[in-house]
Amino acid sequence: MEDYRRDLDALAQRGMLRFLRTVDGAQGPRVLLDGREVLLLCSNNYLGLAGHPRLCRAAADAALKYGSGSGASRLVSGSLALHEQLEQRIAAFKGTAAALVFNSGYAANTGILQGLSGPEDLIFSDALNHASIIDGCRLSRARTLVYPHGDVAALEDLMKKEQPRRRGRWFIVTDGVFSMDGDLAPLNELVTLKERYDALLMVDDAHGTGVLGDGGRGSGEEQGCLEHIDLHMGTLGKALGGFGAFVAAAQPIIDVLINRSRPFIFSTSLPPAVLGPALTAFELVDSEEGRRRRVALRRNREVFAAPLRAAGLDLCGSTTQIVPILTGAPQPTMDAAAALLERGIFVQGIRPPTVPEGRCRLRATVMADHDPQDLETAAATLVEILARRAQV
Ligand SMILES: *Cc1c(COP(=O)(O)O)cnc(C)c1O
Repeated sequence: MEDYRRDLDALAQRGMLRFLRTVDGAQGPRVLLDGREVLLLCSNNYLGLAGHPRLCRAAADAALKYGSGSGASRLVSGSLALHEQLEQRIAAFKGTAAALVFNSGYAANTGILQGLSGPEDLIFSDALNHASIIDGCRLSRARTLVYPHGDVAALEDLMKKEQPRRRGRWFIVTDGVFSMDGDLAPLNELVTLKERYDALLMVDDAHGTGVLGDGGRGSGEEQGCLEHIDLHMGTLGKALGGFGAFVAAAQPIIDVLINRSRPFIFSTSLPPAVLGPALTAFELVDSEEGRRRRVALRRNREVFAAPLRAAGLDLCGSTTQIVPILTGAPQPTMDAAAALLERGIFVQGIRPPTVPEGRCRLRATVMADHDPQDLETAAATLVEILARRAQV
């Protein structure tokens, strides 16, 4: 035990200790944090669906009708009709032949890459991809080449070099919206490369699904290339306000995953109270209300980001509802987050290994139901706190 205590002390000394806080109430614009009301600026509940009365009711209804647990893995005790309905809805939403639900985005990314690729294969992975993609690459035992963030020319150089000794399948894997930077992957250019080099393109649209594009189909719709993406990974826990994840793809890909993907095969499937609200969430995303929420989110994003930009802060190239503010080293980042919290604003400081060394940041996330006035005040407070720190 002593050695673990020493490890924790060492983390604390470097400003790198992580700890948990207690939140009361649904993930709305304001929450009670350790008993005190704060403005919530770090939730991925972008459309404000996590506390939506229709989703809450759908959860209760599904549990009352179908029970609280699914009982086993779907290969063991069967799929519920709700699993199948949800997968049909997701496939229609992304425009693919089929879809498969996973228990989380983490399970999906590890399970997709492990299920579809092996030691003969090659994965080209963006340098800023989510940790679950990195772990999926490891689990797959495929050779993985990491290309510099968003750098299509560097990626093509790698592909050219590899081409003569190619053996197995090739994959290009990228976040659609990068989770810690809020910028978009250059999807059209990646589509060109995947066609030129006969690779499969996998897009993790955890932060784009429900949010981007007129219909909320995600970063593929936003960039006009939805139908060229081979593997659409998305999560149900962020804009969709619930829990779980999915991949939408061609039928043979889904069938291979059912046969090989260990997180799918060896884990109890999502329960009714999770599946019911997910179906309702897709209905809402597809409705006029969903469209209104997307418009409000885009407006709120501008309200919050414009003054930060005007103050000369480095927003890491963000163009979305994820608005990082670069701060550099761990301790000043955590000090700024603490100062913000004192002023009633809850923003997380992000440190390695979530981001590269020296690239710590405050990661603010905007929601559709934030009050624009609150966002203006929060932005002004942020500018003030960071300016004061720059002076000392
Ligand atoms: C959150 C996230 C995941 C993991 O999804 P969970 O459902 O939270 O496990 C995967 N990829 C990206 C890019 C994410 O931001």
